[in-house]
Order: sequence, then structure tokens, then C-alpha cells
Amino acid sequence: MANLLLHTCCGPCAAYTVEEWRSEGLEVAALWYNPNIHPKAEFIKRRDVMQGLARTLELPLDLREGQVSDYFRVVGRNRADRCAHCFSLRLEETARAAREGGFDAFSTTLLISPYQEQELLRGVAEEASREHKVRFLYRDLRPSYQRGRQLARQHGLYRQKYCGCIYSLQERLSSLPMRDEGTAIVARNVAPQ
Ligand code: SF4
Repeated sequence: MANLLLHTCCGPCAAYTVEEWRSEGLEVAALWYNPNIHPKAEFIKRRDVMQGLARTLELPLDLREGQVSDYFRVVGRNRADRCAHCFSLRLEETARAAREGGFDAFSTTLLISPYQEQELLRGVAEEASREHKVRFLYRDLRPSYQRGRQLARQHGLYRQKYCGCIYSLQERLSSLPMRDEGTAIVARNVAPQ
């Protein structure tokens, strides 16, 4: 049986994606490496959700904490292109781990999200694949997004309201109604961890 190292961005996206690849007969192991997630409390929450799901699914999980400085090192001041650097950071780590761990291929749960730039994601993953000489398994899983949400509800998983980085949090907060004074206070106080 071929084995797959699956980068997991969060529990809700992993719930369906693991099921999908397992249904193809692949032996799936997960890797968590998401230093893009801010603030620290949110990082811990998503990490713990993923750990709980891994236990439920009997999924081997390689937990890599990383540092928020890993994210800012690659993104720098380049906020406009930040997603390409963010994908690259996480998928390079996964491809390297897949190669070192003797996996046949790697992939990512980000492929199920309609909020990610799929072609950009695919291009970055294929570059990591070439660099580390391990196959990238691609599939556009976005049509299964609703099924994934349903599964996440069934598992009782926390579902986050923003992508992960400080910028996506700011965008989320600024899209909320201004009459919410609590939101304005949070927005002023949010800073990189
Ligand atoms: S919006 Fe999401 S993918 Fe883009 S840099 Fe932020 S966390 Fe990474």
C-alpha cells in the first residue's frame, strides 16, 4: 500500500481529506506545521483540535510547533504575496519530511478550501515536490468542502473564522460591523505572538 504524508492545516479540513485518501487505499499519516496561525491562543486551539481528531481517526500525527518568526521570516514586508510564501513554508517542510520519512507522496488539506488560491497552492506544492524529489498528490477537493463541514460538525470540531495569519485576522475583524465595540478593542490589541 502506498503511504501519504498529509500536511494538515486544521481539523475541519483534515476530517474529509483523510477519509478521501484512505478510501483510495492509501495509508495516511499527518504532519502539523502551521506557524502562520496567530495569535498564540488560536494556534493552540487549532493544534489541540487536530490532535483530538488524530486520536479519533487513529491517524499518526507528526506535530511540529514551529515559531511565528518562521512565518515572518519568509513573508517579511511582502504582505501582498504572503500566501505564496506561507504555502511554501508549510509545504517545503512537509515535502522534506516526506522524503526523509520514506513516504511515497505528500499532499495538503488546504486543497479542500475554496478560500485558498488553488492554482497558486498547486504550483508551490509542485515546486516543493521537485526540490525534495517526492511526489505531490494533487486533487481539487473543493467540491467536497460542504461534506467536510458536515463531518467537522459530526466530530464536534471548532471551526475557525479566519485563515490564520495576523493579516487575515485583521481583514476578518474589519469586515465586522463597526457598532461592535468589543471587536474594535480586540482589533487594536491584536499583535504578532
Ligand atoms: S491568508 Fe492564510 S494562506 Fe495567506 S498568508 Fe495568511 S494564513 Fe497564510
